[in-house]
Amino acid sequence: MNINRNYLNLQDSYLFARIAKSVNEFKAQNPDKKVISLGIGDVTLPLSKSVIAALSAATLEMGNAETFKGYGDYEGYAFLRKAFCDYYAGKGLTLELDEIFVSDGAKSDVGNMLDIFSEDNTVLIPDPVYPVYVDTNIMAGRNIVYMDANDGNSFKPLPDKNVKADIIYLCSPNNPTGAVYNKAELALWVEYALENDAVILFDSAYEAFVCDKSLPTSIYQIDRAEQCAIEFCSLSKTAGFTGTRCGFTIIPKALTRSGESLNRLWLRRQSTKFNGVPYIIQRGAEAVFSPEGLAEARASVAYYMDNARVIADTLTKLGIEFTGGHNAPYVWLKCPDGLSSWEFFDKLLTKMNIVGTPGAGFGKNGEGNFRLSAFGNRDNVAEAMKRLEENL
Ligand code: PLP
Repeated sequence: MNINRNYLNLQDSYLFARIAKSVNEFKAQNPDKKVISLGIGDVTLPLSKSVIAALSAATLEMGNAETFKGYGDYEGYAFLRKAFCDYYAGKGLTLELDEIFVSDGAKSDVGNMLDIFSEDNTVLIPDPVYPVYVDTNIMAGRNIVYMDANDGNSFKPLPDKNVKADIIYLCSPNNPTGAVYNKAELALWVEYALENDAVILFDSAYEAFVCDKSLPTSIYQIDRAEQCAIEFCSLSKTAGFTGTRCGFTIIPKALTRSGESLNRLWLRRQSTKFNGVPYIIQRGAEAVFSPEGLAEARASVAYYMDNARVIADTLTKLGIEFTGGHNAPYVWLKCPDGLSSWEFFDKLLTKMNIVGTPGAGFGKNGEGNFRLSAFGNRDNVAEAMKRLEENL
């Protein structure tokens, strides 16, 4: 009997465990200190009124024989896919219902999508990066080529014609750097993918945070992207669904490789390995796209973006370089005084009692950088920035 030995090539995911250990030790030794966390990537505001009303109504439906629902469609209920189509129409994009697959969040689909691609494909992954892209490919034993995201390219790597890749991961707005590709930059990626017969896996989990109207919020806003890109969308950050779980994956029918429709392959995969997202959750997700639901979701996003602005303004005042914070809920700063990510982490924790995330945890290019999240409570963000101003 053989295990999947690729799992032995995974690095221990010690980042958040190490952060938690340091924070817990510090709190135990300093019980009187108020520690503020700007390290989390999770939302803090509750679900909106519209979503709660829809979840409650759907729960009652499930208790009534006439309205009870059993298994749903593998690709999600049409009412939700229609609501999502309308949302995309607002971006000037036309999707067909069967190009949309409802998921239990972007993370599972980003990982599971690899099922439909051969293991001998080469994947191109930015560094630093959301660790799921790397780990899921290591699990499958794929060859990974990293592209450097650094100061030199404003954390937005562009295609290198000398590198041949089959699968390309792009995340914009980016976690952890907060960098956002513009249309011209994404167009270069689309051109590269078409030339190389590659497929772009585009993670738009943070699209709702883009405020600048000239920036793309979907890769399909770029010409011919429907021939080379799959897009992963999530309600986690848009509408506070991190614990409720719902997202969408778009696979255009125009996307074929080796003469096969990737949409058809994915449907075949899902109908074998996935039995859908709960009806109750899909009704809650539908409510996000109602006029009231959208207004409520926008208000939550605006709250977090105000936090981001407070953080960005403070860093500007202190003369600390950063990216993100304007069209993304993450602020990615250069550690002052040449400190390493972990040295800055220790300084923030012990001197200012603030917790952030060391950039080194997201890849080698993250060293010397630091991520602050805007998902916290407003008063805490303001207090943390006051401490930064006093101490840096
Ligand atoms: N993609 C990125 C870039 C993320 O940062 C996250 C969560 O932090 C996800 C996907 C996961 O989204 P979901 O909660 O929909 O699984």
